[in-house]
Amino acid sequence: MKKVIIRKTEEIDNWRRNINSEINFIPTMGNLHNGHIKLISTAKNDNSNVNLVSIFINPLQFDNKLDLENYPKTIDNDIKISFSNGADAIFIPSNEDIYPPNSKNIKFLKAPTELSSALCGLNRIGHFDGVCTVVYRLLNLIKPKNLYLGEKDWQQLLILKNLVLSKKLNVAIKSVPTQRDFDGIPLSSRNVNLSKKERKLIRFFSSELLKAKNNFQQEKKINLNEIIKKLSAKKISIEYLEHLHPYTLQKARVEDNISLLAGAIRCGETRLIDHVFLMKRRPIIAIDGPAGSGKSTVTKLMAKKLKLLYLDTGAMYRALSWLFIKESIDYKNEKKLQNILKDISIVFKSNTNLHQDVYVNNYCVTEEIRSEKISSIVSKISSIKEVRKFLVEEQRKIGESGGLVAEGRDIGTTVFPHAELKIFLTASIDERAKRRKSDKNCKDSQDIDIHKLKELIKKRDFEDSNREISPLIKANDAIEIITDGYSINEVVDKIIDLYNDKIPKETEMK
Ligand code: C5P
Repeated sequence: MKKVIIRKTEEIDNWRRNINSEINFIPTMGNLHNGHIKLISTAKNDNSNVNLVSIFINPLQFDNKLDLENYPKTIDNDIKISFSNGADAIFIPSNEDIYPPNSKNIKFLKAPTELSSALCGLNRIGHFDGVCTVVYRLLNLIKPKNLYLGEKDWQQLLILKNLVLSKKLNVAIKSVPTQRDFDGIPLSSRNVNLSKKERKLIRFFSSELLKAKNNFQQEKKINLNEIIKKLSAKKISIEYLEHLHPYTLQKARVEDNISLLAGAIRCGETRLIDHVFLMKRRPIIAIDGPAGSGKSTVTKLMAKKLKLLYLDTGAMYRALSWLFIKESIDYKNEKKLQNILKDISIVFKSNTNLHQDVYVNNYCVTEEIRSEKISSIVSKISSIKEVRKFLVEEQRKIGESGGLVAEGRDIGTTVFPHAELKIFLTASIDERAKRRKSDKNCKDSQDIDIHKLKELIKKRDFEDSNREISPLIKANDAIEIITDGYSINEVVDKIIDLYNDKIPKETEMK
């Protein structure tokens, strides 16, 4: 495809008509560095869409005239960098193009107060209104499928996500982790204005944030005053340093698993921001739903794509059921059962085919637990109080440090009620029976008549949903996905989008 530079807003429509493809849009203010390059290359590697980079220094978002005048302008180099890293087109409009004088079409927007009054909004009056105005204008001109934004400007990212939602814009926001320079400071176009001494101070600031993050992993708490003291001792002028909920920007609460430590400091004329995400444990995704809703297939794929551990809790109930039958264990006797459970071990091991094997007391039961015999008894066994207590504890041990996607019936309600993302996966009974019949892992189901299979699934659903302890129900904060008519990959992509919306990409980095 011929690479083009577009300078007039009128040319955008024409260009769009000719490309015959969806657009990835990467808005910038120029003076491109590795942070921008990462945005462009991520867009390029994500899909086969056309990549459009815009370079426009938006006067509306500068609250300080001098800052606007001093903003580095390196247009020739920016064009080279964009094209050589994957841009197919570059949009370089003038002020008059973006804000035509006397045009009634320009909507000057206000950023939502809840998000824009904290952090940078405290001192940069009108800054986020300017950001919303220009991005809204650009999105309406370009109509991209995806918008690529850096997590470095986390508050801006939240405000723009809010803009997309509130204006019901048909664009997906893809965020990219903060890129750092060799000395650990976040890459920023304004860094070129720093003196050696200023750079040293910023390096100190960034390294203190990083230290706080590492300490938090051990101690699960943070002392803002201590950090402020250390920065002040170096005569660093702090504009703010806050510990907040990463999405609401309200004060962080003890129960928040992920929180945001964000600060802004001033060095001479330059103002710089940095942040880290503090995590008590890695994220957890809970996937609940009735039999045959596609949980296992979806969960396995998610785990692979997101590099998370996969926990099939149903397999644990099945493994216990298998053992109870095999050893004729009298599971109705509560006292005896407690003693028996103490000596049972259920372990998952990954085999060479990227599948997990289930071992009960060191015996591999992966295939045997999928029989119809086990399916028909497992609901009864899973309703026993001692069984649930034992397995829920085991499951919590596995998920203690997070980093997993777990499927079952009570994951979001009981096992991991603080999971970052909860999905309730379901499908019509016809669809679920069809899937079970063609499931290679359930060999018995293939021989059962579809009507009979439907009855068996309905019976299990009823038993699972009506038992006394942690019945199968949708958690209040779970997102329901009805999978009829969707391919597995469509469902997985949808859940990954939801995950990316809840978990900053940066938290996946070391
Ligand atoms: O998901 P799967 O069909 O393998 O689950 C088998 C059974 O295990 C379910 O029907 C249910 O009775 C039980 N189960 C449960 N709680 C879970 C997972 C499974 O009660 N978290």
